[in-house]
Amino acid sequence: VGGETSEKQRKLLSILAEESNRLISVVNSLLDLSKLEAGMMGYDFEVTGIDSLIKRAVAEITPLLEAKQIRLESAVGPSLPQVRLDPERILQVLRNLLGNAVKFTARGGQVRIATKAVNGKLEVSVKDSGPGIAPDNLVSIFEKFNQGSRLGPHTRQGTGLGLAIAKSIITAHGGKIWAESELGQGSTFIFVLPC
Ligand code: ADP
Repeated sequence: VGGETSEKQRKLLSILAEESNRLISVVNSLLDLSKLEAGMMGYDFEVTGIDSLIKRAVAEITPLLEAKQIRLESAVGPSLPQVRLDPERILQVLRNLLGNAVKFTARGGQVRIATKAVNGKLEVSVKDSGPGIAPDNLVSIFEKFNQGSRLGPHTRQGTGLGLAIAKSIITAHGGKIWAESELGQGSTFIFVLPC
């Protein structure tokens, strides 16, 4: 609209766009946190399949996967039970887990998303080949503003709110979320929802 842009201007504009998106996501996380602390997080539950949500979350993250040459394996079962869920909120959890998996995995690594039905529950896991999480941090990373003990380049890229919000969303669904990991062996984030 503003007329011709030079290569340099295009680069600057794309940095501005990226930073604006980052700001929007920080503001949204803070708003979600305020809502859930005030008990005002609204849920629109429906009985539906989770596979289309996983497909959407994977499609959204694909450009980042390609940029980092991370291989994504999707082991999403064909005949999963339907679950009572709020699609937008569960999509938010999937975005957070896949986003973290890609953020913490080095170029050329692997991410795997899998689903299975166990004992009347639907289980979703997101596994990565990233640096892993120290045993002491496996539980505390689900607390708000907690970014683990290792401060690094990733700290700046986040708020430490994603997992706290994910936990609150999964709990509101009557489910559970946790992490399994060994340092140097990647991490797996798992959540279960009652069917
Ligand atoms: P953020 O990613 O914005 O810092 P989160 O609440 O999503 O906040 O995650 C909290 C912390 O948990 C991260 O800062 C990181 O230390 C740890 N973490 C989350 N996902 C992973 C992962 N896939 N691999 C290693 N560490 C992780």
